[in-house]
Amino acid sequence: MRRNSFQIGLSAAGLLISFLTTSSYAAKSSRSSGDDGSPLTVVIDAGHGGHDRGGIPGQRVAEKDMNLDVALRLRNILSANGYNVVMTRSSDVFVPLGGRVAIANSYRNAIFVCIHFNATPRSGASGIETYFYSRESLPLASAIHYYVAGGAPSENRGVRRRGYFVLRRTNIPAVLVECGFLTNPTEAAYAQSASYRQRLAEEIAAGVRRRNTVGSGFGTTRVATSESIPLQPYMDQTNVSSSKKSRTKHSHKKSARKKKSSSKKSDSEASAASRNREG
Ligand SMILES: [Zn+2]
Repeated sequence: MRRNSFQIGLSAAGLLISFLTTSSYAAKSSRSSGDDGSPLTVVIDAGHGGHDRGGIPGQRVAEKDMNLDVALRLRNILSANGYNVVMTRSSDVFVPLGGRVAIANSYRNAIFVCIHFNATPRSGASGIETYFYSRESLPLASAIHYYVAGGAPSENRGVRRRGYFVLRRTNIPAVLVECGFLTNPTEAAYAQSASYRQRLAEEIAAGVRRRNTVGSGFGTTRVATSESIPLQPYMDQTNVSSSKKSRTKHSHKKSARKKKSSSKKSDSEASAASRNREG
């Protein structure tokens, strides 16, 4: 129970911080987002590729292929809508995480969107998660998550703050969206449908388009309109738990940080799954 109280306290603190900071970040974002006439650059990062299949060992549907397909669809949608689009990969090749970050950081007036699918040994786990790290990335994460989670038939697993390498090292707003669990039979079946992948891409694109309309959470500080997207509450998973950390090897360069032990089985499963790849 103490742990739960602690977590609630953390979440409340996170929410308060986000409420207090979102307005200024939203304003900063809109100034630098291409609304001045120059097109925004969207750097799209299809997770994994080449020898890095993504997911977990023995997984039937290769995550790298699903990521790339959604990313290419997103590229087409955003290009058609006037965005300048850059792909960290547009074929089945391996690009190191540092290379992906370097591409993202070579652009100004840009945002970074990483596309992944989730995996965990328990096939029942399901749902959509969206990750961010820097405060200035939260409105983008909220907007993308609002649309993807709202448009998918899957469980809403929320917005989460975690120090993935590609999120920590990028100096532009950066978001990683987990478009469902390929280890879940239902979600894997969805993912293998081209129309569903198109839908995912369209929802992500909607989040990109509406990234500056995320509400601060203070109804009185701005005019509430049907155009505004509610700020999504998030859980902070940037805290280290040494007891759990020791149970799982860290096979990559991302943050070794890990949330406090969770009372929810699905959370720890997702965390375990996430540690095995960069998202
Ligand atoms: Zn992945």
